[in-house]
Amino acid sequence: MKAFWNPLELAHDPQFFLQRGTAKRNFEVPGRAEALLAACREMGLAIVDPGPADPAAILTVHPPDYVEYLRDGWQAWEAMADHGAEMIANIHPSPEMLANGAKRSGTIVGQVGWYHADANPTCRETWVSAEAAAACAIAAADEAASGRHAYALARPPGHHAYAARAGGHCYLNNAAIAAERLRRGGAARVAILDIDSHHGNGTQGIFWERDDVFFASVHGDPNGYYPWYVGHAGERGAGAGAGCNLNMPLARGSGDEAWLAAIGAGLREVRRHGAEALVVSLGMDASRDEPLHFLDITDDGFARAGEAIAASGLPCAIVQEGGYNLDALGRLLRRFLAGFGG
Ligand SMILES: [Zn+2]
Repeated sequence: MKAFWNPLELAHDPQFFLQRGTAKRNFEVPGRAEALLAACREMGLAIVDPGPADPAAILTVHPPDYVEYLRDGWQAWEAMADHGAEMIANIHPSPEMLANGAKRSGTIVGQVGWYHADANPTCRETWVSAEAAAACAIAAADEAASGRHAYALARPPGHHAYAARAGGHCYLNNAAIAAERLRRGGAARVAILDIDSHHGNGTQGIFWERDDVFFASVHGDPNGYYPWYVGHAGERGAGAGAGCNLNMPLARGSGDEAWLAAIGAGLREVRRHGAEALVVSLGMDASRDEPLHFLDITDDGFARAGEAIAASGLPCAIVQEGGYNLDALGRLLRRFLAGFGG
């Protein structure tokens, strides 16, 4: 199995994180990628730098104005004499403003709130890392299109990013870009199975009205966990996509059996949908060793999840999402990928 990785993914190093009203050191750190890379080396995976991302592939998911903001916004921010060390929103357009005809601002302070769901910081290096992560997801999708499993060591992660809104450590939705790549590469139907402990709200939003990309997510109940507002079982998609979105929220403290049962149910629906390829949004933050853990998944649980997904028989583009325990990440990746013969 190939593991796609580009060292530019280490450049993004956000500092700010807001938790319960307290500003803390951000834990989406470059060391996460280093730990995962070390595990890939230990497993003997072929580590491949996919080179620059195909800009057209990113634009299949994200509109040009949002990509331009991520790429060039920093220059406008830096041109302000009193700018902070990172771009962080202090206002977002509320639903009332949007209902009253709110428009994108021409100035960077207004744009940061427009393009972010939360206080997710953007730094000078964010774009180069996000673009490099997307390139890894695209390359993994191309492998899956050829019938082979592949792992995209993607950092920053992507599943909380909407088409035109960053959030939750995410900027470009790598899994969505991979799914679009597979679709345009000839797969009539694709599925995304998201087993990060947080709901993949961005991915859900991107494919909400689509019937060609089935989305299934297993995650902590949003009633008590990020992203707080969506991820409920009743959200099934709309329009052509009605019935093509499956959320399986789990109660706080749920363990291996509940998690694996939900993954099994998701895989059955993926098969029923007729998917020809699978994108896996792989987060390790369901682990009981996660610092802010909500679920209680063991190392064996990750191994069994890998085996179950591999047994689906679908070519998988496995795209890295969250997981923040630097001491556990590599071990969990090895256990998960063992099921794929990796
Ligand atoms: Zn997560």
